[in-house]
Amino acid sequence: MSAARGEAKVIDGKAVSKRLLEKLPARVAALTEERGEAPLLAILAIGADSPSEAYLKMKLQACRSIGLETSVHSLPLATTEAEAFQVLDDLGGDLHVDAILLEMPVPEPLDARRLIDRIPPEKDAEGVTERNFGRLFAAKSMADIDAAGVFLPCTALSIITLIQEAGIEPRGKQAVVIGRSNIVGKPAAHLLSCLDATVTLCHTKTPDLVFYLKRADIVVSAVGKPGLVTGAMLKRGTVLIDAGVCYEDGVMKGDADFESIRKVAGAVTPVPGGVGPVTTACLLLNTVLAAERRTRARLAA
Ligand code: NAP
Repeated sequence: MSAARGEAKVIDGKAVSKRLLEKLPARVAALTEERGEAPLLAILAIGADSPSEAYLKMKLQACRSIGLETSVHSLPLATTEAEAFQVLDDLGGDLHVDAILLEMPVPEPLDARRLIDRIPPEKDAEGVTERNFGRLFAAKSMADIDAAGVFLPCTALSIITLIQEAGIEPRGKQAVVIGRSNIVGKPAAHLLSCLDATVTLCHTKTPDLVFYLKRADIVVSAVGKPGLVTGAMLKRGTVLIDAGVCYEDGVMKGDADFESIRKVAGAVTPVPGGVGPVTTACLLLNTVLAAERRTRARLAA
């Protein structure tokens, strides 16, 4: 983290990501030695989408850097649901595949939710299948989550990792999460609750966002609207984790009005360079965890 006098600390997502990734090669090497093959992440990409392709390249490079194997299964734009199901079923049943990732977005008229739920929960690298959500939301504490063998949704895991890496203890704090999607806002709010914060989940029907923000010690913004959160809306010293991603004239922006927030907040994540890099590291972390759990289950059988 870095801070000038009187300004918020900037939580460096790239540095946090590097620290997370540094711990993984030893775990991957141990698995590779034990099983005679490296853990394998299979990626299904349907149709061509430029931003998604750029993210895909980044993920493949990150996997290589820690010794993970990858296989990419590319299907054309006109793929039917039955064809996509077949590939997912094959990957689900393949003993060599430890984790499966479905690249987003999927082209219309495919239903992303139905495709995601075809992934077996034990290979759910992104923690986004309904069965994983069920286990996650049935848990009340981080200990329950561990015991249930949940894979945490990567962006929500990135958010709480950044909060903890910044040295902020959520217990007893007031937290506000803006955005209630299944993959980001809701799980981030739930994880903060599991870490004993008192959480308010805001959305488009929240009548007075500022009322809640002014009381919050921790704010997570997961919307995708640049400038939605400004310094004037926040309590002095608050911690702002900005998960929003939006492109304006080709420039990546978060939800936060960074300059005004720096003068008020105690700590803030930048966009780019905050939640994004840590989310990629969390995907790799989940893949290694999936391989470890599958290897343990195989040895126990
Ligand atoms: P989403 O499904 O579109 O959800 C957006 C949420 O924001 C909704 O719950 C919506 O409320 C709420 N919202 C919209 N305008 C609002 C406003 N003016 N005030 C309060 N709430 C408002 O998006 P998502 O998939 O959760 O993604 C959220 C953001 O995170 C996007 O920018 C996405 O690109 C980014 N993202 C980043 C990463 C990363 O790794 N950095 C990963 C995934 C997503 P309603 O429910 O009432 O409609």
